Amino acid sequence: MHEMSLAHGMMQQVLALLREHGAERVTDVTVLLGPFSGVVAESFAFGFEVLKKSETCFQDATLHLELPDPHYRCLECGVETSLPLTRSATFLDPDCETSTSSRCPVCASTRLSPLGGAELILQQVRME
Ligand SMILES: [Zn+2]
Repeated sequence: MHEMSLAHGMMQQVLALLREHGAERVTDVTVLLGPFSGVVAESFAFGFEVLKKSETCFQDATLHLELPDPHYRCLECGVETSLPLTRSATFLDPDCETSTSSRCPVCASTRLSPLGGAELILQQVRME
């Protein structure tokens, strides 16, 4: 599972921070998952739950996922817009440009091109 290795990589980052700060345990981890990252949030959270059992300092850690709405640029009129997508549709088909039925709020074109949103960012870590 792709998300399992992503969760593992993220936890390695957190562990490095933990050592850097001389802290003993992690209480909260906030991760931003871009709508076009291709990462299934549920699977990522599951991977985290499984992996945290093997790391003492993660035992009480809570994962917070931020899932921002996707942003698009209209290919007809150039306006940039943020449109909520149904999450499951996004995840099932990462090629959102063709799967979205959303329309430009200005000219009603369906030719919307995704802007960014492919990121997986470790945003905040709380430790003790
Ligand atoms: Zn438009």
